[in-house]
Amino acid sequence: MYRTHTCGELNMQHAGKEVVLSGWVQRSRDLGGMTFIDLRDRYGITQLVFNMETDAPLCQEARKLGREFVIRASGEVRERSNKNLKIPTGEIEIEVKKLDVLNPSKLPPFTIEDDTDGGDELRMKYRYLDLRRNVMKNSLELRHRMAGEIRKYLDQQKFIEIETPVMIKSTPEGARDFVVPSRMNPGQFYALPQSPQIFKQLLMISGYDRYYQIVKCFRDEDLRADRQPEFTQVDCEMAFAGQEDVLNTFEGLAKHLFQKIKNISFNGPFPRITFQDAMERYGTDKPDIRFGMELFELTELTRGHGFPVFDDAEYVGGINAENCAGFSRKQIDNLIEYVKRPQIGAKGMVWVKWNEDGSVRSSVDKFYDEAALGKWIEKAGARKSDLLLILAGNRVDTQEALSELRLEMGRRLELVKDDEFAPLWVVDFPLLEWDEETKRFYAMHHPFTSPRPEDIPLLDNDPGAVCANAYDLVINGVEIGGGSVRIHDGKLQKKMFETLGFTYEQATEQFGFLTEAFAYGAPPHAGVAFGFDRWVAVFAGSDSIRDVIAFPKNNAGRDLMIDSPSALSAEQLSELRLKIEKQDPGK
Ligand code: ASP
Repeated sequence: MYRTHTCGELNMQHAGKEVVLSGWVQRSRDLGGMTFIDLRDRYGITQLVFNMETDAPLCQEARKLGREFVIRASGEVRERSNKNLKIPTGEIEIEVKKLDVLNPSKLPPFTIEDDTDGGDELRMKYRYLDLRRNVMKNSLELRHRMAGEIRKYLDQQKFIEIETPVMIKSTPEGARDFVVPSRMNPGQFYALPQSPQIFKQLLMISGYDRYYQIVKCFRDEDLRADRQPEFTQVDCEMAFAGQEDVLNTFEGLAKHLFQKIKNISFNGPFPRITFQDAMERYGTDKPDIRFGMELFELTELTRGHGFPVFDDAEYVGGINAENCAGFSRKQIDNLIEYVKRPQIGAKGMVWVKWNEDGSVRSSVDKFYDEAALGKWIEKAGARKSDLLLILAGNRVDTQEALSELRLEMGRRLELVKDDEFAPLWVVDFPLLEWDEETKRFYAMHHPFTSPRPEDIPLLDNDPGAVCANAYDLVINGVEIGGGSVRIHDGKLQKKMFETLGFTYEQATEQFGFLTEAFAYGAPPHAGVAFGFDRWVAVFAGSDSIRDVIAFPKNNAGRDLMIDSPSALSAEQLSELRLKIEKQDPGK
């Protein structure tokens, strides 16, 4: 028998009992007459004790055990003299009578402790060791529990989980596809799904009116902390349903998860805000509303005072940092450096202080007198002791920069608590996005998203102004998911493809089967997909989705542990009829 109990379950009630435990040696301490070993498994840590006086040979054996050896220990549970009340097993220890080394271990390349000495790359390379650490174990358990609760809730709501294929044809989510060559069809490729979008819509046509799937999706795009080339979605679709049905059903899911996993109840509906409002008030379509500090616009008020930076700007706007008028020159310079970083991209920053003594000072005193600055203060809703931080430039970029500055100030002023959650829906997204480079419209969500019925006439003369029946769920400034009401009318779909610049042939070639399917009685339908990794990361309080994925890839898209991607043998290449172009060393 390997074990009668786990390393996390013994306590004073077991005192006097003979037990067998198996696990890994976390650490050992030699105190002359006694040797202590912390034995670890998935469930916790139990202290083993070996006594030189009572059993010298066994104690000597124990001293030879290295970190991460796998052992089995049999002995008696007894009360500990030096109790550790921080862990559930901290009141007891096992007086070991028999010890077996089940497998020795090489010295691990980093310590497997909560505060490890291993850097990111090293821990990625030995991910299976990193996964032994508590933080990792806790996130994988959290992930498992969340998936379980999602299934429970959706099952109650009569959703059924249906698997869709992984080797498909391109899906239109706007990223690059990963492709798989077909040996049996030389020169032809499958694409991996960027999402099951097309299949779930086909399932609606097939009559499965409530579908979901916890599913891997693949997108070949530049990676960041919240992006992996393969990631997991909770993908959902409903027939005979519109926006309200989807928002209500999935607000229910979010509340269920908050309740079951975080023990937080939300009374009343989640706030809803339009895309337009989100941009004006927070400078982003995924606002963190755990704190205020909303943007205010000064474009008109700043004009005509001879300050060229503001006169020439499409947009001038700012945020009010309450009670920060006391900021030193150094603190302000530091913020100016922050907004000038290439990722933020501002050229500079103007500040206004309404000092405690009632005086008003700014970095543009030369151009604006107190009366003018007073108007800004009024617009900002500021009070004495407040500090206004102001940026200027084109509207969208400046709002985005202000959004970053707002979040940074939120961090510096510690305005958000880690265990606070603020979910909201962002609705009424624009249907289309204009791309200056290619001079054409792209679907902001995807080409199957329905315009708001009242906006359909605008498609002909002002497509940029058309709003979509599309929505995102945002929690604490993280886009957790998004979806839309779909176009179910073939004619409207054709118009949408035209607006997006697809020729009839291109649309038929790529989505012909779908247009054909729509001709056989497509019900009205709508859906949503959640980034499962992101949702788990937000609940885990982690900034990176890597922390909640068992075997993630690094920022270069590599799995350092299995060393992938890797080259194919000449034989495999020729079977697939593929030739690798020599890489130009200059590139
Ligand atoms: N397929 C969409 C996505 O992956 C979600 C949806 O519209 O349901 O973003």
